[in-house]
Amino acid sequence: MMHVMLDLETLSTRPNAAIIAIGAVAFDPQRMEVLSTFEARIRPDSADSLGGHVDMDTVSWWMRQPDAVRAQWDDEGAQFGNALSQLHTWLRGNQHGPLSALWGNGAAFDNVVLAEAFRAWAMIRPWSYKQDRCYRTLRALLPHIEEPPFEGERHTALADALHQAKHCMRLLAALRTEAQPNA
Ligand SMILES: [Mg+2]
Repeated sequence: MMHVMLDLETLSTRPNAAIIAIGAVAFDPQRMEVLSTFEARIRPDSADSLGGHVDMDTVSWWMRQPDAVRAQWDDEGAQFGNALSQLHTWLRGNQHGPLSALWGNGAAFDNVVLAEAFRAWAMIRPWSYKQDRCYRTLRALLPHIEEPPFEGERHTALADALHQAKHCMRLLAALRTEAQPNA
């Protein structure tokens, strides 16, 4: 079973936000294992192409972040359309089986923004709306389940996605135990 946790770093909080980094982590919630990871940084001069929205409040937030976080504004990054097709290939072509669930942090954020980006680029998005899942909701329902320690730099796409994936596996395991206390 393959689930994927997604984390986008963006220049706006709107559904058509310009994306500057994509982190994604494939995991098996039953075996509680990370299967593989994906990361793409997008050249800033390509992030806002085809209408990606840039919001000055978000940009000024970025300017106040540490160097390791701002390094995601990478002139050597991918052209945005190429980053989307690499993500498409990673999601659909990896050997861990078909996608069962795509998790984002917020019912109205990562999955929605990514779907909007695929639409803007006239590319087929590599998941169904039936696979959309919200990690923020799951976390709120089980506040007693502790997060694992954070590794790496917060607000970098892959580190955030890895952290959320590990926490999500704990949350799903707790749900299984609470649903069947004697199992
Ligand atoms: Mg993030």
